[in-house]
Amino acid sequence: MKRETSRWYVILSCDDVPAQPLPSTGAAAGVDMGVASLVTTSDGDHLDNPRHLKASAGRLAAAQRALTLKNRGSKRRRKAVARVAALHAKVRRQRLDGAHKAALALVRAYDVIVHEDLRIANMTRSASGTIDAPGRNVAAKSGLNRSILDAGWGVFLRVLAYKAESAGRELIAVDPRNTSRTCSRCGHCAKDNRLTQARFRCQACGHEAHADANAAENILRAGLALRDAAEAA
Ligand SMILES: [Zn+2]
Repeated sequence: MKRETSRWYVILSCDDVPAQPLPSTGAAAGVDMGVASLVTTSDGDHLDNPRHLKASAGRLAAAQRALTLKNRGSKRRRKAVARVAALHAKVRRQRLDGAHKAALALVRAYDVIVHEDLRIANMTRSASGTIDAPGRNVAAKSGLNRSILDAGWGVFLRVLAYKAESAGRELIAVDPRNTSRTCSRCGHCAKDNRLTQARFRCQACGHEAHADANAAENILRAGLALRDAAEAA
């Protein structure tokens, strides 16, 4: 049993649950983790556009600001603390729900799923501008929202790892550096290839794609190359 603010939860866990392998689909995908969508696949699908999560994140930021204005020990302050806690819990639930849905869709559709190595991604993410210049519709302005979105990728990868193992799917993590600025058709790598958060157009060959789908394609290619190299060794 666990209590989170005013709600009680029953947590069940089972040991030695047999894996339930899913039938093979013969398909492989790369997934790019982003801000506008939690993940975009190399097939161009956007999974979990977390609009509701962003709305909650905005409310949470407002509630935290409101809390700082309340006098210590006051009844209003107690209420404000409860509101912050409730919104934190809501964000956690929404994030977990989005992660489950996206991961389930991926393991159903693909035998092999290639994703970014999150430790490297977090180091390079700000340099590549994905979060620092997230586009107009992305509520990643505050450090708080940023940390909420960062945490979302970690939760998603944990859920994905668990579901992939249970379904007998193969997961491959790759170095995500340059995946967002490299052309998936000709390999030309330049910062200018990325016109906006969403638009990619190769300055060498003219290839146009959704920027995240182009990145996911590069991620897929890197993963399959790693796999071939491991098999050859
Ligand atoms: Zn190109």
